[in-house]
Amino acid sequence: MTHAGDAAETVEKQSLKHATHWIAGKPWDGTGERHGDIYDPATGQVTGSVDFASSAEVELAVAAAARAFPAWGQTSLAKRASVLFAFRELVHGRRAELAALVSAEHGKVVSDAAGEVARGLEVADFACGIPHLLKGGYSENISTGVDAYSIRQPLGVVAGITPFNFPAMVPMWMFPIAIACGNAFVLKPSEKDPSASILLAELWGEAGLPDGVFNVVQGDKVAVDALLTHPDVRAVSFVGSTPIARYVFQTATGAGKRVQALGGAKNHMVVLPDADLDLAADAAVSAGFGSAGERCMAISVLVAVGSVGDELVSKIADRVAKLRVGPGTDERSDMGPLVTGPHRDKVASYLDSGVREGATLAIDGRVHPVIGGGEVGGGFWLGPSVLDHVTPSMGCYADEIFGPVLSVVRVPTYADALQLVSENPYGNGTAIFTNDGGAARRYVSDVQVGMVGVNVPIPVPMAYYSFGGWKDSLFGDTHMHGTEGVHFYTRGKAVTSRWLDPSHGGVNLGFPVSG
Ligand code: NAD
Repeated sequence: MTHAGDAAETVEKQSLKHATHWIAGKPWDGTGERHGDIYDPATGQVTGSVDFASSAEVELAVAAAARAFPAWGQTSLAKRASVLFAFRELVHGRRAELAALVSAEHGKVVSDAAGEVARGLEVADFACGIPHLLKGGYSENISTGVDAYSIRQPLGVVAGITPFNFPAMVPMWMFPIAIACGNAFVLKPSEKDPSASILLAELWGEAGLPDGVFNVVQGDKVAVDALLTHPDVRAVSFVGSTPIARYVFQTATGAGKRVQALGGAKNHMVVLPDADLDLAADAAVSAGFGSAGERCMAISVLVAVGSVGDELVSKIADRVAKLRVGPGTDERSDMGPLVTGPHRDKVASYLDSGVREGATLAIDGRVHPVIGGGEVGGGFWLGPSVLDHVTPSMGCYADEIFGPVLSVVRVPTYADALQLVSENPYGNGTAIFTNDGGAARRYVSDVQVGMVGVNVPIPVPMAYYSFGGWKDSLFGDTHMHGTEGVHFYTRGKAVTSRWLDPSHGGVNLGFPVSG
C-alpha cells in the first residue's frame, strides 16, 4: 500500500534528473556506486543527481576512445571538417536549450549563459577550418633531388577536465580542435553542472561523429586521477583552480603526458587619473559582477591611481544600487546566485575578514534585495559587494574570492600600479583604463600578465587567438585554442624524401649535408 506522502515522494524522485556518462556513442547504462547532487542555485533545492565514475568507468571511456581513434585519425580532412560544420550548426540550433541547461545548474542569467555558448561556438567555427590549419610546409630541392616537408598528426586519446563556471564554453575551448585534429576525446566536466556535456555529446552523434570519438565521464577526483595516470591518455587539458591545476600538471607530466593546465586568477583593472570615470565605473561593475564574479576573467581588484578612488567608488555604488539580483531564469535579473551554499558562505566570509583586516565595506551585498524575496530565500544569494581601502597584505586581496566582491586598492602612481599587478602571483587578465595612448602602450608591454585589455575590462581573446595566463594562472606552455590549440593536439613530423633518378649516387657514411 502506498501512502499519499510516499506517492508524493515518488513523483518528486521521478522528476529529478539524472546525469550519467557518455561512452561509445550512448549514455552509460550501468549503476553507479557514488553520486553527487545537482542543485538549482536559485532555490537551493536538489534537482537531480550525477553519477561519479570509478576508475572502471573511466577505463571503459578511454577504451572506447582508443578503439575509435585509428579510424578517426585516418578520416579525410574533408570529412572531418564536414562533421565539424554539422556539429556547429546543431549547437547553434539548440543554443537556447543549452543556455537554459547551464543557467538551471550554474545559476547565471540565461542571457549570460547564451553568451558562453556563443563564445564556445566560435571555437567550433575556428575548428571548421582544420584543413587550412593543418597545412604543413614544403621545401623542394633541399639537396639535389631531395625534398622536405612537415606534417602534423593527432596524438591519440586526449582528455579535458573542466570547471563549473563555464560548463559549455570551456569544454568547447578544447574538444572541437582536438577532434578536428583527428584525436578521440574524453571529457570530465564539473560535477556541479554536468548536463550541458551530455547534450553536446548527443549533438556530436547527430553530426555524424563516429561512436567513441567523444566521450564524457562524470565525477570527481577519482575520475580525474584515473585519466591523469591512464597509459592510453596522451594529453590532458585542464581548466580550474590553481592548486588543482598545479596537481594536474605535476601528476600528468609525471605520467609522461603533454599537459596544459589553466588555473585561477586575480584580475586587476587599473584606472589612471585621466580615464573616463563613467566608462571605468560601467566596466568595473560589468566585469566585477557579471556571472556573480564567477568568471576567471572577472575583475576582482580595482586599482585607483592618484585621487580617483572616491569618485570611482561613488559611481560604482550608484550603478550597483540599480543591479537586479534574482533567479537566472527571470528575465529581469542582471545577476544570479552563486553556484553552491558552501561557496556562497566562503565568498561572504571575505566581507567580514576584510573589515577585520582594515578594509572599508563600501557596499554590503548581503543586504541587496533579491527578486522574488522570501520565495527564493533558500538560494545561494550574495549581492554585489565592494571592499574599499584594501591592501596587498589582506586575505581578501591575496586569495581568489571567485564571487561578487570587488576590492579597491588605492595607489599614488602608475609605477605603483604596474608593480602591484606584476608582482601578483596570478597573471591571467588585466585591464587599463586611460585616455593616454602612451601610458596604455607601456602597460601592455611591461605588465606581467597573459591577457591585457585597453579600455576593455574582460579581454577574452577570440577563438583564432589563444587563451591563457601567465605565472600561477597557467602550468605548461601552450595556451588554449587558436593555433596554440592546434599545436597542443598534434605532433609535428619532418620528412626528407628522395625519389630515385639516374644520378642517385652510391654509399656515403658521412653525415647528410646538402649538396
Ligand atoms: P576546481 O579546481 O575545483 O575544479 C576543476 C575541475 O577539477 C573539476 O572538474 C573538478 O571536478 C576537478 N577537481 C576538483 N578537485 C579535484 C581534486 N582534488 N583532484 C582532482 N580533480 C579535482 O575549479 P572550479 O571550482 O570548478 O572552478 C573555478 C576555478 O576555475 C576558479 O579558480 C577559476 O579561476 C578557474 N577557472 C580558470 C579559467 C582559466 O582560463 N584560467 C577559466 C575558468 C575557471
